[in-house]
Amino acid sequence: MSGNKARLQAMRDVEAYVPPAHSFDESEAPGSVFGTNVFNQAVMQKRLPKSVYKSVMSTIEHGATLDPLVADAVASAMKDWALEKGATHYAHVFYPLTGLTAEKHDSFFEPTGDGSALAEFAGKTLVQGEPDASSFPNGGLRNTFEARGYTGWDVTSPAYVLENPNGNTLCIPTVFVSMTGEALDHKTPLLRSQQAMGEHAERILKLFGHTDTKKVVSFCGPEQEYFLVDRHFFLARPDLMNSGRTLFGAKPPKGQEFDDHYFGAIPERVLGFMMDTERELFKLGIPAKTRHNEVAPGQFEIAPMFERGNIAADHQQLLMTTFKTIAKKHGMEILFHEKPFAGVNGSGKHVNFSLGNSELGSLLVPGDNPHDNAQFLVFCAAVIRAVHKYAGLLRASVASATNDHRLGANEAPPAIISIFLGDQLADIFEQIASGPATSSKGKGHMTIGVDTLPVLPTDPGDRNRTSPFAFTGNRFEFRAPGSMQTVSGPMVTINTIMADSLDYVATALEASVAEGTDFDSAVQALLTEIITEHGAVVFNGDGYADAWPVEAEKRGLANLKTTLDALPELITPAALELFAKYKVFNEREMHSRYEIGLEQYALTIGVEARLTLEMGTTQILPAAVRHQTEVATNIAALKAAGVEADLAPLTEVSEPLGALRSALASLRSALAEEVGHSAQAEAEHARAALLPAMSAVRAASDALEELVSDDLWPLPTYQEMLYVL
Ligand code: ADP
Ligand code: MG
Repeated sequence: MSGNKARLQAMRDVEAYVPPAHSFDESEAPGSVFGTNVFNQAVMQKRLPKSVYKSVMSTIEHGATLDPLVADAVASAMKDWALEKGATHYAHVFYPLTGLTAEKHDSFFEPTGDGSALAEFAGKTLVQGEPDASSFPNGGLRNTFEARGYTGWDVTSPAYVLENPNGNTLCIPTVFVSMTGEALDHKTPLLRSQQAMGEHAERILKLFGHTDTKKVVSFCGPEQEYFLVDRHFFLARPDLMNSGRTLFGAKPPKGQEFDDHYFGAIPERVLGFMMDTERELFKLGIPAKTRHNEVAPGQFEIAPMFERGNIAADHQQLLMTTFKTIAKKHGMEILFHEKPFAGVNGSGKHVNFSLGNSELGSLLVPGDNPHDNAQFLVFCAAVIRAVHKYAGLLRASVASATNDHRLGANEAPPAIISIFLGDQLADIFEQIASGPATSSKGKGHMTIGVDTLPVLPTDPGDRNRTSPFAFTGNRFEFRAPGSMQTVSGPMVTINTIMADSLDYVATALEASVAEGTDFDSAVQALLTEIITEHGAVVFNGDGYADAWPVEAEKRGLANLKTTLDALPELITPAALELFAKYKVFNEREMHSRYEIGLEQYALTIGVEARLTLEMGTTQILPAAVRHQTEVATNIAALKAAGVEADLAPLTEVSEPLGALRSALASLRSALAEEVGHSAQAEAEHARAALLPAMSAVRAASDALEELVSDDLWPLPTYQEMLYVL
C-alpha cells in the first residue's frame, strides 16, 4: 500500500461510507414535494386577486408589459408566501458573463423608527434592483463612473425559496443591464431572441391556418454530464481546485476501454447523492428525470425534462449550484469541467432544442397528414438554412478554452458544424431537391400528388452520436455545448438564426400567396430552393472519420478548430447585421461579447499556466529529485559494498527530470513575456506560447509519474480519482 495520505484517507472513507441522515420525513409520498418552494402559477392563482392574476398570466403568455400596480400586489403576496416559508431575505438572481450565477441579498425587514422592524417588499423592489456591479465583465460596455447595473424581474421565470440551514432566501430571476439598457448578462438576449423567433414562427403558422394560437417559444432540454471524485482527492489536487481539471496525470492502466461503466449499476454513494439532489431539484420545481452512468469511469449524466428556453436556462444554473452543495454533503466533489481528465472522455451539455407552444406542441414533429407534414418540413428547412448560413455563430456560441479540449477530439462532435437528419428525412429532402417527393424510404406510405406533401412516420430513425446538430424525432440536439457552459449562449444563437430563417420563409410564402400562387406549390418551391442552397450542411455519415474534414472542406463548411478561430465570427458584418436586425444585440453588445470571450480565454489559460508552474516546481520536481537521490544513494551503497551497480535506473529518472527542469524554465519565461494589454494579444499569447509550454511540463511530469516511487508521488493518481467512489 502506498503512503499517499489523501489516498489512504479516501479509501477509508469510501469503505466506511454511511449515507447522510435523511433530512425529510420518510413517509413522504414521492413527488409530493414538487414545486413546494416555487411561487408558481398555482400559488399565484390562490393568493392573488383575480384581476391581478389574469394580468400576470397575460404578461407570461402573451408578453404584455407588467402594470406597476400589479407589481405591487404580486410583491406583497410573494413576500407573505416567502415569510411563511421562513425566508428572511430576498435576492435578485442574475447571470453575468462569467457564466456563473450572481445574487445580491437584501433583508425584508426595515427598521420602523420605534425600535422594531417591519417586513417590506414593494412592487418596485420586486421589479428592479441595483446591485453594485462594477466588477462583472462588461467588455467595455460600462465605464467605472457609470458602474451601476440594473436587475429586472423576468416575470416568465418563477421566483423560488432557496433553503439554507441558516435561513431561507426568496430568489427572483432577473435580467442584468447597464444604465443605457445594454445587456450585461445571458438572460436579456435570451428573452429578446426568444421573442424575435416566436414572432416569425407565428407568421408561418398563420399561413398554415393557425390564426389564433398561443405565443410560440423555444424549448430547451439540457443533458448535463459531470464527474464525481472523492473530496479527499479533490483537496489534494490544487489543479482540480483552481482550474477544474487535472494539469498532470499519467494515463491509468485501466482506462475506459472496457466500456463497463456506461449505463452500468450506479455506485451506492453516487445514487445516494443523485436521490438527494433530485429531491432538492423537485422542491425548486426542476423536473429532473433521467440519470445514468456515462462513458468514462466516474462520469454521470442528468437530464431534466425540457422547458421553455429561459426557464430551462435558469433551472440549469440552479441545478449546477445544487449539485455542488449536495456532492459535498456526500463527501464528493462534482466536476463540471469539459475535460477534467486527459485521455478520458470529456463532458458536454447537449442542448435539445425545439419550438412550439402548449397548444401545438413541438413544431418539429412530423404530423399525421400531408398538411401537417408540409408545416413540419417548412420548420425543418428553416433549421437547415439557419445552421448552414450561420454555422460559424453556432461554433462561436460553444467556444471556450475549456471546451477546446473536447471539440474535435473524437469523443465529442467535431468542430465542423453539420446537421444529421437520419436516413429517412435526408431521403425526403434529397427528393425535394430534385423536385416533388414521391416515396418514403423503406416505409412506403408516403403519397404525394401535385399539391400534397408526404405523410411521414414519426419514427425518430437512427441515432448518430458524432453529429453536432442531430434531428432526434421531435427536436434537434446541439451536442457541441460544453458541460460548464450556460445553455443561454447556444440558445440565444439558435433562436436568433431561427428568427432569420423563419422571417425569410414567412416573407417568401406571404409574397407567393399575395401573388396568387397556390400555397402547396409555393411551399414545394421554397423547400426545393432551401435544400438546394443549404443542403451541403446535411451530413449523415461518421463525423469522426478522417475523410469528413476533407469532404467538409469541399462542401465549403468551416472547420473552426479553436476558440480563437471561432470568436471572430461574432463580429463579422453579417453577424452584426443579423443580431441588430432581430434586436438581440446591438453592435456594441456584440463587440463586448467578443472581448469578454477573449478575456475569459486568456484568463483561463493564464491561471492554468501559473498553476502548472507552481505545482511542477513545488510538488513534482521535489518528489522526482527525492526519488533520484534514493536511486543514486542506492547505487553509491552498492558500489561501496563492492557490488557492481547498474546505472540505468539513474539515467532513466534523470532524463525526464532534466526535461521537467527545462520545460518549467520555458514556461516561466513564457509567463514573464510582455504581451501588451489587449485581450486579443493576451489570448493569442496564451494559445501560441502558454499552452505548448504547459504541455511540455506535463509530458515530463507524466513520464516521471510512471517512474517515481508511489509513496513519494504527491498527487492522487488518475486510477484513484476515477475508480474510488
Ligand atoms: P438521449 O440520451 O436519448 O439524448 P435523454 O433522455 O438523455 O435522451 O435527454 C433528452 C432530452 O431532450 C431531455 O432533456 C428531454 O426533456 C429533451 N426533449 C425531449 N423532447 C424535447 C423537445 N420537444 N424539445 C426540447 N427538448 C426535448
Ligand atoms: Mg443523453
